[in-house]
Amino acid sequence: MVSQSPDTKISIKSPIRAPSAVPVDDAVLPFEVDALDLRGRLTRLGPALDDILTKHDYPPQVGKLLGEAIVLTTLLGSTLKFDGRFILQTQTDGPVSFLIVDFQAPDRLRAYARFDKKRLRDGQDSGSLLGKGHLAMTIDQGADMSRYQGLVALDGGSLEDAAHEYFLRSEQIPTRVRLAVGEEWRGGGDGPKHRWRAGGILMQFLPKAPERARQADLHPGDAPEGAVTHQVAEDDAWVEGQSLIGTVEDVELIDPDLSGERLLYRLFHERGVRVFKPLALRAQCSCSREAVSAMLNSFAPQDRAEMVKDGKVMVTCEFCSSVYQFTPDEAGVE
Ligand SMILES: [Zn+2]
Repeated sequence: MVSQSPDTKISIKSPIRAPSAVPVDDAVLPFEVDALDLRGRLTRLGPALDDILTKHDYPPQVGKLLGEAIVLTTLLGSTLKFDGRFILQTQTDGPVSFLIVDFQAPDRLRAYARFDKKRLRDGQDSGSLLGKGHLAMTIDQGADMSRYQGLVALDGGSLEDAAHEYFLRSEQIPTRVRLAVGEEWRGGGDGPKHRWRAGGILMQFLPKAPERARQADLHPGDAPEGAVTHQVAEDDAWVEGQSLIGTVEDVELIDPDLSGERLLYRLFHERGVRVFKPLALRAQCSCSREAVSAMLNSFAPQDRAEMVKDGKVMVTCEFCSSVYQFTPDEAGVE
Protein backbone atom coordinates (compact mmCIF):
# COMPACT_ATOMS: atom_id res chain seq x y z
CA MET A 1 0.00 0.00 0.00
CA VAL A 2 1.23 3.43 -0.82
CA SER A 3 1.57 5.40 2.34
CA GLN A 4 0.82 9.03 1.83
CA SER A 5 0.36 11.34 4.74
CA PRO A 6 -3.16 12.77 4.75
CA ASP A 7 -3.86 16.43 5.13
CA THR A 8 -4.62 16.63 8.82
CA LYS A 9 -4.22 20.38 8.90
CA ILE A 10 -7.44 22.01 9.88
CA SER A 11 -8.72 24.17 7.09
CA ILE A 12 -11.38 26.69 7.78
CA LYS A 13 -14.00 26.69 5.06
CA SER A 14 -17.29 26.53 6.92
CA PRO A 15 -19.22 29.76 7.35
CA ILE A 16 -19.03 31.59 10.62
CA ARG A 17 -22.17 31.63 12.72
CA ALA A 18 -23.38 33.30 15.85
CA PRO A 19 -22.31 31.50 19.02
CA SER A 20 -24.85 29.31 20.73
CA ALA A 21 -25.27 29.38 24.48
CA VAL A 22 -27.14 26.08 24.34
CA PRO A 23 -24.99 22.98 24.84
CA VAL A 24 -24.95 20.72 21.78
CA ASP A 25 -24.03 17.09 22.33
CA ASP A 26 -22.67 14.63 19.79
CA ALA A 27 -20.92 17.22 17.71
CA VAL A 28 -17.48 18.50 16.76
CA LEU A 29 -17.04 22.25 16.84
CA PRO A 30 -14.15 23.70 14.79
CA PHE A 31 -12.58 26.90 16.10
CA GLU A 32 -9.81 29.35 15.38
CA VAL A 33 -7.79 31.75 17.50
CA ASP A 34 -6.37 33.97 14.80
CA ALA A 35 -4.21 36.13 17.06
CA LEU A 36 -2.25 33.03 18.16
CA ASP A 37 -2.35 31.11 14.85
CA LEU A 38 -4.27 28.35 16.55
CA ARG A 39 -6.86 26.09 15.00
CA GLY A 40 -8.72 23.38 16.75
CA ARG A 41 -11.74 21.24 17.29
CA LEU A 42 -13.84 20.60 20.35
CA THR A 43 -15.91 17.42 20.70
CA ARG A 44 -18.81 16.92 23.08
CA LEU A 45 -20.39 13.48 23.25
CA GLY A 46 -23.54 12.50 25.11
CA PRO A 47 -26.21 10.09 23.81
CA ALA A 48 -24.03 8.67 21.00
CA LEU A 49 -21.28 7.71 23.44
CA ASP A 50 -23.78 6.37 25.96
CA ASP A 51 -25.35 4.24 23.23
CA ILE A 52 -22.02 2.68 22.19
CA LEU A 53 -20.77 1.97 25.71
CA THR A 54 -24.09 0.83 27.19
CA LYS A 55 -24.64 -1.81 24.47
CA HIS A 56 -21.63 -3.64 25.83
CA ASP A 57 -22.06 -3.02 29.53
CA TYR A 58 -18.32 -2.41 29.93
CA PRO A 59 -16.70 -2.21 33.37
CA PRO A 60 -16.27 1.52 34.19
CA GLN A 61 -12.53 1.74 33.51
CA VAL A 62 -12.90 -0.03 30.15
CA GLY A 63 -15.80 2.22 29.18
CA LYS A 64 -13.76 5.26 30.10
CA LEU A 65 -10.77 4.15 28.03
CA LEU A 66 -12.90 3.29 25.01
CA GLY A 67 -14.66 6.64 25.45
CA GLU A 68 -11.30 8.42 25.29
CA ALA A 69 -10.45 6.54 22.09
CA ILE A 70 -13.82 7.54 20.61
CA VAL A 71 -13.27 11.23 21.43
CA LEU A 72 -9.76 11.11 19.97
CA THR A 73 -11.15 9.52 16.81
CA THR A 74 -13.74 12.27 16.38
CA LEU A 75 -11.04 14.92 16.82
CA LEU A 76 -8.75 13.31 14.25
CA GLY A 77 -11.29 11.91 11.81
CA SER A 78 -13.78 14.74 11.49
CA THR A 79 -11.82 16.50 8.73
CA LEU A 80 -12.38 13.62 6.33
CA LYS A 81 -14.18 14.35 3.12
CA PHE A 82 -16.76 12.41 1.10
CA ASP A 83 -17.23 8.85 2.26
CA GLY A 84 -13.86 8.64 3.98
CA ARG A 85 -13.21 6.36 6.89
CA PHE A 86 -10.93 6.78 9.90
CA ILE A 87 -10.11 3.75 12.02
CA LEU A 88 -8.22 3.96 15.27
CA GLN A 89 -7.11 0.73 16.91
CA THR A 90 -4.78 -0.42 19.62
CA GLN A 91 -3.15 -3.78 20.10
CA THR A 92 -1.40 -4.11 23.42
CA ASP A 93 -0.40 -6.50 26.21
CA GLY A 94 -2.46 -4.85 28.96
CA PRO A 95 -5.87 -5.86 30.38
CA VAL A 96 -7.51 -4.10 27.40
CA SER A 97 -5.72 -5.95 24.63
CA PHE A 98 -7.60 -4.53 21.67
CA LEU A 99 -9.84 -1.62 20.94
CA ILE A 100 -11.20 -0.22 17.73
CA VAL A 101 -13.10 2.92 16.80
CA ASP A 102 -14.50 3.16 13.30
CA PHE A 103 -15.57 6.58 12.07
CA GLN A 104 -17.32 6.81 8.72
CA ALA A 105 -17.62 10.32 7.35
CA PRO A 106 -19.61 12.39 7.66
CA ASP A 107 -21.02 11.29 11.00
CA ARG A 108 -21.15 7.56 11.84
CA LEU A 109 -19.32 6.12 14.84
CA ARG A 110 -18.97 2.60 16.17
CA ALA A 111 -16.47 0.99 18.55
CA TYR A 112 -15.68 -1.92 20.82
CA ALA A 113 -12.96 -3.17 23.16
CA ARG A 114 -11.64 -6.59 24.12
CA PHE A 115 -10.46 -7.01 27.68
CA ASP A 116 -9.49 -9.60 30.28
CA LYS A 117 -11.80 -9.18 33.25
CA LYS A 118 -9.42 -11.03 35.57
CA ARG A 119 -6.71 -8.42 35.04
CA LEU A 120 -8.91 -5.40 35.77
CA ARG A 121 -8.30 -3.50 39.02
CA ASP A 122 -9.95 -0.46 40.54
CA GLY A 123 -8.27 2.81 39.70
CA GLN A 124 -6.31 1.58 36.66
CA ASP A 125 -5.56 4.50 34.38
CA SER A 126 -5.56 4.39 30.57
CA GLY A 127 -1.83 3.70 30.40
CA SER A 128 -1.92 0.65 32.65
CA LEU A 129 -5.09 -0.67 30.99
CA LEU A 130 -3.42 -0.54 27.60
CA GLY A 131 0.09 -1.60 28.52
CA LYS A 132 2.63 -1.91 25.75
CA GLY A 133 1.99 -2.29 22.07
CA HIS A 134 0.90 0.08 19.37
CA LEU A 135 -1.81 2.39 18.21
CA ALA A 136 -2.68 2.42 14.53
CA MET A 137 -4.64 5.03 12.64
CA THR A 138 -5.94 4.11 9.22
CA ILE A 139 -7.43 6.59 6.82
CA ASP A 140 -9.37 5.38 3.84
CA GLN A 141 -10.53 8.09 1.47
CA GLY A 142 -12.36 5.85 -0.95
CA ALA A 143 -11.60 3.40 -3.75
CA ASP A 144 -9.38 5.59 -5.94
CA MET A 145 -7.37 7.06 -3.08
CA SER A 146 -4.42 5.49 -1.34
CA ARG A 147 -4.83 4.16 2.15
CA TYR A 148 -2.78 5.78 4.87
CA GLN A 149 -1.66 4.14 8.08
CA GLY A 150 0.14 5.85 10.94
CA LEU A 151 1.61 3.87 13.82
CA VAL A 152 2.57 5.03 17.30
CA ALA A 153 4.20 2.89 19.97
CA LEU A 154 2.29 2.62 23.23
CA ASP A 155 4.49 2.19 26.26
CA GLY A 156 2.30 2.55 29.33
CA GLY A 157 1.24 6.10 28.46
CA SER A 158 -2.22 7.53 27.83
CA LEU A 159 -3.95 8.08 24.51
CA GLU A 160 -3.26 11.80 24.86
CA ASP A 161 0.47 10.99 25.08
CA ALA A 162 0.19 8.79 22.00
CA ALA A 163 -1.55 11.55 20.04
CA HIS A 164 1.18 14.05 20.98
CA GLU A 165 3.86 11.58 19.95
CA TYR A 166 2.11 11.02 16.62
CA PHE A 167 1.88 14.71 15.76
CA LEU A 168 5.45 15.37 16.84
CA ARG A 169 6.97 12.47 14.90
CA SER A 170 4.74 12.04 11.86
CA GLU A 171 3.01 15.31 11.17
CA GLN A 172 5.46 17.69 12.82
CA ILE A 173 2.59 19.99 13.70
CA PRO A 174 2.66 21.41 17.24
CA THR A 175 -0.48 19.84 18.70
CA ARG A 176 -2.16 19.51 22.09
CA VAL A 177 -4.95 17.08 22.82
CA ARG A 178 -7.17 16.78 25.90
CA LEU A 179 -9.61 13.92 26.44
CA ALA A 180 -12.14 13.46 29.22
CA VAL A 181 -14.81 10.83 29.89
CA GLY A 182 -17.19 10.73 32.80
CA GLU A 183 -20.23 9.00 34.19
CA GLU A 184 -23.18 11.15 35.01
CA TRP A 185 -25.88 10.18 37.47
CA ARG A 186 -29.16 12.03 37.30
CA GLY A 187 -32.07 11.62 39.69
CA GLY A 188 -35.47 10.76 38.25
CA GLY A 189 -38.84 9.23 39.11
CA ASP A 190 -37.54 5.66 38.79
CA GLY A 191 -34.21 6.11 40.54
CA PRO A 192 -30.87 7.57 39.44
CA LYS A 193 -30.05 7.21 35.76
CA HIS A 194 -26.52 6.56 34.57
CA ARG A 195 -25.16 8.16 31.42
CA TRP A 196 -21.75 8.34 29.81
CA ARG A 197 -20.46 11.69 28.64
CA ALA A 198 -17.21 12.78 27.07
CA GLY A 199 -15.41 15.77 25.70
CA GLY A 200 -12.13 16.58 24.09
CA ILE A 201 -10.17 19.30 22.45
CA LEU A 202 -7.46 19.29 19.81
CA MET A 203 -5.46 22.42 19.18
CA GLN A 204 -2.77 23.00 16.56
CA PHE A 205 -0.29 25.77 15.98
CA LEU A 206 -0.33 26.61 12.27
CA PRO A 207 1.59 29.84 11.68
CA LYS A 208 2.08 31.12 8.14
CA ALA A 209 5.84 31.07 8.60
CA PRO A 210 6.71 27.37 9.08
CA GLU A 211 9.92 28.08 11.01
CA ARG A 212 7.78 29.37 13.88
CA ALA A 213 6.33 25.89 14.34
CA ARG A 214 9.66 24.21 15.04
CA GLN A 215 9.53 21.93 18.05
CA ALA A 216 12.07 20.52 20.45
CA ASP A 217 12.53 16.77 20.43
CA LEU A 218 10.62 15.29 23.36
CA HIS A 219 13.27 12.70 24.10
CA PRO A 220 17.00 13.01 23.56
CA GLY A 221 16.87 9.43 22.21
CA ASP A 222 20.14 7.52 22.27
CA ALA A 223 22.35 10.59 22.31
CA PRO A 224 25.51 9.86 24.34
CA GLU A 225 25.55 11.21 27.86
CA GLY A 226 26.69 14.79 28.04
CA ALA A 227 25.77 15.45 24.43
CA VAL A 228 24.07 18.73 23.71
CA THR A 229 20.39 17.99 23.21
CA HIS A 230 18.30 19.60 20.53
CA GLN A 231 17.20 22.96 21.93
CA VAL A 232 14.45 24.89 20.26
CA ALA A 233 12.78 27.90 21.80
CA GLU A 234 9.03 27.54 21.28
CA ASP A 235 7.16 30.40 19.68
CA ASP A 236 5.49 32.74 22.20
CA ALA A 237 2.06 32.25 20.62
CA TRP A 238 2.33 28.48 20.96
CA VAL A 239 3.58 28.77 24.54
CA GLU A 240 0.53 30.91 25.34
CA GLY A 241 -1.84 28.53 23.54
CA GLN A 242 -0.49 25.56 25.48
CA SER A 243 -0.80 27.33 28.79
CA LEU A 244 -4.43 28.26 28.00
CA ILE A 245 -5.40 24.72 27.03
CA GLY A 246 -3.52 23.50 30.09
CA THR A 247 -6.19 25.14 32.25
CA VAL A 248 -9.06 23.03 30.86
CA GLU A 249 -10.43 20.71 33.48
CA ASP A 250 -12.06 17.35 32.78
CA VAL A 251 -15.32 18.55 34.34
CA GLU A 252 -15.45 21.45 31.89
CA LEU A 253 -14.97 19.14 28.93
CA ILE A 254 -17.87 16.91 29.95
CA ASP A 255 -20.17 19.44 31.70
CA PRO A 256 -23.64 18.95 30.14
CA ASP A 257 -24.64 22.50 31.10
CA LEU A 258 -21.67 24.26 29.55
CA SER A 259 -21.87 24.82 25.79
CA GLY A 260 -18.82 24.28 23.62
CA GLU A 261 -18.89 27.93 22.62
CA ARG A 262 -18.89 29.08 26.21
CA LEU A 263 -16.02 26.77 27.06
CA LEU A 264 -13.96 28.09 24.14
CA TYR A 265 -14.81 31.65 25.13
CA ARG A 266 -13.72 30.90 28.68
CA LEU A 267 -10.36 29.68 27.38
CA PHE A 268 -9.56 32.15 24.63
CA HIS A 269 -11.68 35.29 25.13
CA GLU A 270 -8.67 37.53 25.69
CA ARG A 271 -7.34 36.70 22.23
CA GLY A 272 -10.65 36.31 20.45
CA VAL A 273 -11.97 32.98 19.25
CA ARG A 274 -14.16 32.19 16.25
CA VAL A 275 -16.24 29.06 15.99
CA PHE A 276 -17.50 27.43 12.83
CA LYS A 277 -20.35 25.20 11.81
CA PRO A 278 -20.45 22.11 14.07
CA LEU A 279 -20.41 18.61 12.60
CA ALA A 280 -23.03 16.29 14.04
CA LEU A 281 -22.06 12.76 15.10
CA ARG A 282 -24.16 9.67 15.69
CA ALA A 283 -23.68 6.12 16.87
CA GLN A 284 -24.59 3.78 14.10
CA CYS A 285 -23.19 0.44 13.10
CA SER A 286 -22.75 -0.42 9.46
CA CYS A 287 -23.30 -4.15 9.83
CA SER A 288 -26.06 -5.89 7.85
CA ARG A 289 -27.33 -9.37 7.18
CA GLU A 290 -25.96 -9.14 3.65
CA ALA A 291 -22.48 -8.17 4.88
CA VAL A 292 -22.41 -10.97 7.46
CA SER A 293 -23.60 -13.42 4.83
CA ALA A 294 -20.84 -12.30 2.46
CA MET A 295 -18.30 -12.75 5.27
CA LEU A 296 -19.55 -16.31 5.92
CA ASN A 297 -19.20 -17.06 2.23
CA SER A 298 -15.55 -16.01 2.33
CA PHE A 299 -14.77 -18.70 4.96
CA ALA A 300 -13.48 -22.13 4.07
CA PRO A 301 -16.30 -24.75 3.87
CA GLN A 302 -14.91 -26.60 6.89
CA ASP A 303 -14.86 -23.43 9.01
CA ARG A 304 -18.46 -22.73 8.06
CA ALA A 305 -19.45 -26.27 8.99
CA GLU A 306 -17.83 -25.86 12.41
CA MET A 307 -20.00 -22.81 13.09
CA VAL A 308 -23.24 -24.82 13.07
CA LYS A 309 -24.62 -25.16 16.59
CA ASP A 310 -28.07 -26.59 17.38
CA GLY A 311 -28.88 -26.59 13.67
CA LYS A 312 -28.12 -22.93 13.08
CA VAL A 313 -25.31 -20.48 12.52
CA MET A 314 -25.29 -17.42 14.79
CA VAL A 315 -23.04 -14.44 14.21
CA THR A 316 -22.84 -11.54 16.68
CA CYS A 317 -21.56 -8.16 15.53
CA GLU A 318 -18.79 -7.16 17.89
CA PHE A 319 -19.46 -3.47 17.35
CA CYS A 320 -23.16 -3.30 18.13
CA SER A 321 -23.98 -6.75 19.57
CA SER A 322 -26.62 -7.40 16.88
CA VAL A 323 -27.18 -11.13 16.39
CA TYR A 324 -27.63 -12.59 12.91
CA GLN A 325 -29.05 -16.08 12.56
CA PHE A 326 -28.74 -18.31 9.50
CA THR A 327 -29.85 -21.82 8.62
CA PRO A 328 -26.91 -24.08 7.64
CA ASP A 329 -28.21 -23.87 4.08
CA GLU A 330 -28.20 -20.05 4.11
CA ALA A 331 -24.72 -20.08 5.59
CA GLY A 332 -23.49 -22.23 2.70
CA VAL A 333 -22.86 -25.35 4.77
CA GLU A 334 -23.05 -28.46 2.61
ZN1 LIG B 1 -23.11 -4.07 14.09
